[in-house]
Amino acid sequence: MLFVSTRSKDNPISSAHAIKEGLAPDGGLYVPQSFPTLTMDEILSMHRQPYAVCAASVLRRYLTDYRPEELAACATAAYTEEKFGQQPVVLQKVADRTDVLELWHGPTMAFKDMALQILPHLMTRAQAKAGEEGRIVILAATSGDTGKAALEGFADVPGTEVIVFYPEEGVSAIQKLQMTTQEGENTAVFGIQGNFDDAQRGVKEIFHDRELAERLRGHGWSLSSANSINWGRLVPQIVYYFRAYADAVAAERIQPGESVLFCVPTGNFGDILAGYYARKMGLPVKRFICASNANNVLTDFINTGRYDRNRTLHKTISPSMDILVSSNLERLLYDMTGGKGSLVAGWMEQLNTTGVYEVPTDLGDDIRYLFQGFWVDEQETKDTIGTVFNDYGYVLDPHTAVAWHALEKYRLLSSDEAYAIVLSTASPYKFSQSVLEGLNKADLARNDDPFAAAQALHDVTGLPVPPQVAGLREAEILHQDVIDPGQMTAAILDTLEIRC
Ligand SMILES: *Cc1c(COP(=O)(O)O)cnc(C)c1O
Repeated sequence: MLFVSTRSKDNPISSAHAIKEGLAPDGGLYVPQSFPTLTMDEILSMHRQPYAVCAASVLRRYLTDYRPEELAACATAAYTEEKFGQQPVVLQKVADRTDVLELWHGPTMAFKDMALQILPHLMTRAQAKAGEEGRIVILAATSGDTGKAALEGFADVPGTEVIVFYPEEGVSAIQKLQMTTQEGENTAVFGIQGNFDDAQRGVKEIFHDRELAERLRGHGWSLSSANSINWGRLVPQIVYYFRAYADAVAAERIQPGESVLFCVPTGNFGDILAGYYARKMGLPVKRFICASNANNVLTDFINTGRYDRNRTLHKTISPSMDILVSSNLERLLYDMTGGKGSLVAGWMEQLNTTGVYEVPTDLGDDIRYLFQGFWVDEQETKDTIGTVFNDYGYVLDPHTAVAWHALEKYRLLSSDEAYAIVLSTASPYKFSQSVLEGLNKADLARNDDPFAAAQALHDVTGLPVPPQVAGLREAEILHQDVIDPGQMTAAILDTLEIRC
C-alpha cells in the first residue's frame, strides 16, 4: 500500500517513508491510497487475542513494506505488561448503555502511549529500510500529553533525539513535572511563552524550512514528527476501536454487527479520525460524537461548515484539548471530498492566511451526518465528574468528563439510545486537583501541591495512586528552559550542538 499527501496525489510513497518523514513536502499529511477491510469474524476474534496481536493485524494491512514478523515484533516490544499492566485497553461497564474505554494504562497515564510506545520501533525500522545511516530528530509540540509520551517512547532509542515544546503555562502540574524530569541522553524539553497553537505552528514552520533541513542533513540529522500528523501515530490508534467493539460483543453489551456510538474527547482530531478509519475498514459505527471543551472550534465547524480559528484560546481544566487548529481535520476533508487535494490545499491556505475556510453545504451535511459536535464548559465538566462518581462510583478525568457530558447532550437532543463507548484518554491522577474540584473536595488540596491532591483523590475515591505519580515526587528537574516561540529553531540547533 502506498501513501499520498492530502494536498496532491502525485509522488506516492511507502509507509516506512511516510512514517520517517512525518509531514509531506507540500505541507499536507500522508494518507493511505485505499482502505483495507476486516470481516466481522476477524473483528470479533480480537477479543481473545493479546493486544499486540490485534495491533499487528491492523498494522500489517497498512504498513505493507514492513514484514509481518517485524510488525509483530514492534507490537510485542511496545505493549508489554511491564509498561501497560495486564490489559493495555480496558472496557469498563459504567452505565446502562454506556461503557468507558480506558486508554491510559501506559507509562505516561494518557492514551498517547498507545501510539507513542510503538512509533519509535516503527520509525527506527523505517530508517533502516531507507538504508539511511543518519540520525532522526523527532519534534513534538504538545498540549501536555504528547510531549511526555514522546519522551518516554524515544528516550535512549539509539539514532534518535527527541525535542519537545510545551506551552509553559498551559499544562497541569503533573504534566509539567513529567516532562521536566525526563531522563535520557537524547531528550530535550522547552517551555514556550505561548500556547499550544504557537508551539504547533512553530514545529510546522520548522518542517517547511528547507534551509534548516539542509543544514541538519549536513550534520547527519533528518527531521520527523511525533505529533498525530505522523501516520505512524494514527495507525496504532485504529486498533483499539476494533478491540473495544470485540470486547463489547463478548461482554454481551451489543449483538455482533450492531452499530454503536463512539464519543471522543477531541483536540487535534487524531483520535476520532482513527475511529473514522476503523469505520471505513468495516467497524459498525453509527456516529461519532466529537466532544470539545470551551475551545469549541470543531463544534462550530461541524454545525456550520465554517472553520474559524480567529478566537481566543481558553485555558481549561482539560488542557490537552486546548487547541484551535485541529490538524487532522485535513485528512477527513481529503477523504470526504473523495481525495480532492487541490480543494484541501486551498482551504488550508485560507486557514493559514485568514484563519477561516468554509466547506460547501453538501460536504458540511455529510460531515454532520456522521459526526455530531458538542462542547462542554468548565462548570459542566466539574459537575459531570461529581455526578458520574455519585451515580456510578466511577472517576472521570476532565477530558473524559467532557466526552461523557457531550454524549449526554447528544442523547438529549437526538433521543438516540444506541449503545455508546466513551473514550477515556487520561488517568484522573494526571489532573487530581481538577477532579477533586469536581468531587466537591477542593478544600482537601488547597495548596498547589499535586502530590497532596493525588493523596486526597485516593482518600476520597479509593482509586490506587499510580506508581508513576509517586515516582515524580523524588525525581530531579532536568529541563528548565523557557523560550519565546521565535527561538525554537535556535533551541533545536543548540540541542544538536550545531553552531555554524
Ligand atoms: C491528546 C489528548 C486528547 C485529544 O486527542 P486528539 O487526538 O488530539 O484529538 C484528549 N485527551 C487527552 C487526555 C489527550 O492527551
